[in-house]
Amino acid sequence: MTDRRRDYRKKTIGNHKLSPETQMMGYGYDPMLSEGALKAPLFMTSTFVFQSAQAGKDFFEIAYGKRARAQGEEPGLIYSRINNPDLEMLEDRLALWEDAEKGLSFSSGMAAIATSLLAYLRPGDVIVHSAPIYGGTEYLIRNILPSFGIKSVEFEAGGDTPTLAPAIEEAKKLGRIAVIYGETPANPTNDLIDLHTARDEADKLAKTQGHRPVIMIDNTFLGPLWQKPLAHGADIVIYSLTKYVGGHSDVVAGAVVGAADVLTPIQGFRTILGTMCDPYSCWLLMRSLETLKLRMTASTENARVIAEYLRDHPKVAKVHYLGFLEESDPTYKIYKEQCLAAGSTFAFDIKGDEAAAFRVLDNLTIIKLAVSLGGTETLMEAPYSMTHSDVPDDVKERLGIMPSMLRISVGVENPDDLIADLAQALSHA
Ligand SMILES: *Cc1c(COP(=O)(O)O)cnc(C)c1O
Repeated sequence: MTDRRRDYRKKTIGNHKLSPETQMMGYGYDPMLSEGALKAPLFMTSTFVFQSAQAGKDFFEIAYGKRARAQGEEPGLIYSRINNPDLEMLEDRLALWEDAEKGLSFSSGMAAIATSLLAYLRPGDVIVHSAPIYGGTEYLIRNILPSFGIKSVEFEAGGDTPTLAPAIEEAKKLGRIAVIYGETPANPTNDLIDLHTARDEADKLAKTQGHRPVIMIDNTFLGPLWQKPLAHGADIVIYSLTKYVGGHSDVVAGAVVGAADVLTPIQGFRTILGTMCDPYSCWLLMRSLETLKLRMTASTENARVIAEYLRDHPKVAKVHYLGFLEESDPTYKIYKEQCLAAGSTFAFDIKGDEAAAFRVLDNLTIIKLAVSLGGTETLMEAPYSMTHSDVPDDVKERLGIMPSMLRISVGVENPDDLIADLAQALSHA
């Protein structure tokens, strides 16, 4: 049984390495273990029957790390808070996109972020994080973690990240730096973080403070297709699967990927906090993964067409699109090194005030006025008053998030239709 299963974890044909988009159709699943069903069934079960009392004992010993696994011994299925075949298959497939050793799935992106931070931070520790950052993450760091004795220092994304070293100097005075946390590209400005700088700083800290902080990168905006942070120095890559991976705006879920030993404490916390993904969401996400490359490729092509249209529009002041970075911009080099494409979520500033920006949103017809991103449909919102409403106004202005800014997540519709909608909506600006 173990051997047959392993056939379904084939990564090569001879010397030929298989691509993730091919692997998404069946990796980690053996039809012969499920009555020959082509597609992995949905294992809607809370618990699993042990073949013998000894098997139950073995499974628990492995699950709780009481002994090392014997050669070829697979962790057994016990209970769906600990594991479930749909979770395992989804996690195996997510890991493939970044050549990661392991993946873990969660009930939301925030569950992935919170569980990972709690697993790695202790009272007295400091987290050094980039800005701007996702609103939920910001709230967790700013308002919840301090009550557990965890402090934070932020650094602004952009350029080759000259802001990180001074932030680390400041953080050192507050306590042990346990986590360097980054979001790149930053939402909604698309500023980047130089991951090599982050890695160098973490290595330096390993010597100076005797503890190497883990580098966690939220890869929701460009991953897993267009950015692979593990290859550039990140230790843990975090996803809101709700966005591009789910891709149909109908699932809320999250994930982390990385080396197995780095994920072990997070998995332990997940089991006890109960922040895992449910089997049905995992099953939906496996279905989504089969078309991930198609969807992200199509939306990325559409986004370029839309960005070019907006750049030439008389009512648009600036388009914050990674594909328009000038070679003279210090971010350009980071973009070329770390990113494989510009993605399909970006902001643009219209000429006018908040009222003008709102008139554009209120006149959209095909494009929906909603937050979130990465779905098949195009969405628009105003970051200043919506997704980033909670960020103090002076901070927003310092980061370039203005009331005249609109964010668009471009979907897979016909781009001519999107342009027709934008044209009529912008005429009201
Ligand atoms: C949406 C989002 C999250 C949170 O994910 P949920 O699935 O909504 O919990 C975290 N980071 C980024 C960048 C996001 O866009």
